[in-house]
Amino acid sequence: MASPRDKTAYLVRPPTAVLTRGFDPRLSVGSARPAVFRSSTYVFSSPEAAERAFSIALGKSRPAEGESVDLIYSRLSHPNAEIAEDHVVPLEKGAEAAAVFNSGMAAISTVFFTFCQPGTSFVYTVPLYGGTQHLIHQLLEPMGMKGIPVAAGDGPAIAKAIASAGNLRLVLIESPANPTLVMTDIAAASAAAREHHDRPLVAVDNTFMGPTFQHPLALGADLSVYSATKYLGGFSDMLGGVVIGRDPELLARLRGTRAILGNILQPDEAWMLDGRLPTVGLRMNRQSKNAQRIAEALVGHPKLRRVIYPSLFTDPEQVRIRDAQCSYPGGIFSIQLDGGKRAAFEFLRRLRIAKNAVSLGGVETLVCHPATTTHSEMSEEELARYGVGDDLVRISVGIEHWRDLLAEFLAALDGA
Ligand SMILES: *Cc1c(COP(=O)(O)O)cnc(C)c1O
Repeated sequence: MASPRDKTAYLVRPPTAVLTRGFDPRLSVGSARPAVFRSSTYVFSSPEAAERAFSIALGKSRPAEGESVDLIYSRLSHPNAEIAEDHVVPLEKGAEAAAVFNSGMAAISTVFFTFCQPGTSFVYTVPLYGGTQHLIHQLLEPMGMKGIPVAAGDGPAIAKAIASAGNLRLVLIESPANPTLVMTDIAAASAAAREHHDRPLVAVDNTFMGPTFQHPLALGADLSVYSATKYLGGFSDMLGGVVIGRDPELLARLRGTRAILGNILQPDEAWMLDGRLPTVGLRMNRQSKNAQRIAEALVGHPKLRRVIYPSLFTDPEQVRIRDAQCSYPGGIFSIQLDGGKRAAFEFLRRLRIAKNAVSLGGVETLVCHPATTTHSEMSEEELARYGVGDDLVRISVGIEHWRDLLAEFLAALDGA
């Protein structure tokens, strides 16, 4: 079970903290790694402790420093959620608190339902993850919230959209954008939000680069949001979502909504996620090195119109943003093939090591054709505007040997 916040945990570096803080073996019969607590309900130590736990859960009082509060019921919280939350905090620079959800979409929708009400507005960058786009158009806008889209990477347009929005509650940034990898200046958007009289929160979908290569909270954002299904989970075998923030009060509000919606990460998945956290930095570093070697080796290939990857950016503004907010280029790149959709499909058909599947961030390489799959709900006009052509293939690089992957991609291009 999670022990009260240990201040000394901040004196060690993240790879150490993720293995040492927040878990007390004495509360798991001495087990060196956390046990799984599947119980749906918890026995109170006394009627007074039950009264106290409910008072805190309902927000009527605050726990005192170091106070140990009884658990109540697993939809509110459970030991494996608390352990995973405590362990993910040191991975995100500037973080103080976290909340786990049963998918990335559960995390994102809980952010909206907690901080935006009917009659309020929010600004978001496009292109956006397909599920988030659906949430906005099919649920939030019909409920009376106003979504204001702005093109990813367009700093002046984002600043203007923020400054001119009324009743503004949230700015949602996805950077880099999927699948074009266009980057948005998180520090500049956060500064614009701070100047707005409504003081909207800034949330960054950090799924592509975090928590290893990009730290939105350190750049001024309020919340860093994850599909833990991707790099955090890392093995394409679980769904999960995480929100991490600087202000524990914001996370307490998110947990309150989570208790109502019932979308907390379940104990078994929380235990799995917790076990994957100590290796996320190792996996992502290997994936980024692999991707960089392969992407750079493919530049100039006669069958390719373009290789899209952060280390290959040429636009000075994109180079500036990349250098200011990403420590490494990451594990995802896209290619544009000569010969359009037919060539792209032939390329996919010839893959043996890499799998033709959506999703990303797993230890195995996954390749997809966004225009006909993940982005197929976009109109022709939107696809063209955001650069998601039918010649584009997105590649999420795993931890296989990069030379095997490069050989496979070269052979597939020869046939395409
Ligand atoms: C996958 C993904 C999501 C949604 O996460 P789920 O775990 O599938 O619900 C949100 N944002 C980005 C950038 C993603 O890649």
